[in-house]
Amino acid sequence: MKSKLVVLAGPSGVGKGTVVRELVRQKPEVFLSVSATTRKPRPEENHDDHYMFLTEKEFLDEIDEGNLLEHAQFAGAWYGTPRKPVEERIRNNQIVVLEIDLQGARQVKKSMPEAFLVMLKPPSIEELKRRLIDRGTEKPEELELRLQVAIGELEAENEFDAVVINEDVQSAVSQLITLLHLN
Ligand code: 5GP
Repeated sequence: MKSKLVVLAGPSGVGKGTVVRELVRQKPEVFLSVSATTRKPRPEENHDDHYMFLTEKEFLDEIDEGNLLEHAQFAGAWYGTPRKPVEERIRNNQIVVLEIDLQGARQVKKSMPEAFLVMLKPPSIEELKRRLIDRGTEKPEELELRLQVAIGELEAENEFDAVVINEDVQSAVSQLITLLHLN
């Protein structure tokens, strides 16, 4: 893998957040981009740590000013990657990981074709549903929407450079470490 920019996509609830955080814990040289979003924070989430939580107006201003590398609407909220920190880290030869949805992954591939795209897949749709229910952060109708989007996202597997099945966090992280030549 020559690219310094890694995109980790995959359906909501598959465990992307847990996997990337464990990756950064084991390999602190990896820079994890903090996204901006208009979604409301979950109880355990802090500003600037998990996301930059913005109002819709603030988010749209960021788009207008060209400050986002990519952006997308997902389940009724805006999400986007702040451009500056990513470009700075790449210039410094650091490995940058974006944990984003499929629409964002496609935009990054278009604007930065050298990006390395990894899809994190659940062992099965049933398991994904179970993980989303266990997370308990969505209302039933929101959960159903996320599941439908997830099924569509999984069909895009062949657009990715690599696929990792998230059977458990440690094995997913060690597969990523190998794929990214971090060992
Ligand atoms: P959640 O609300 O569960 O934190 O995130 C919902 C979806 O948005 C997930 O698939 C997550 O990967 C994606 N996401 C998070 N940040 C970004 C971003 O900056 N850009 C895009 N396109 N998607 C994002």
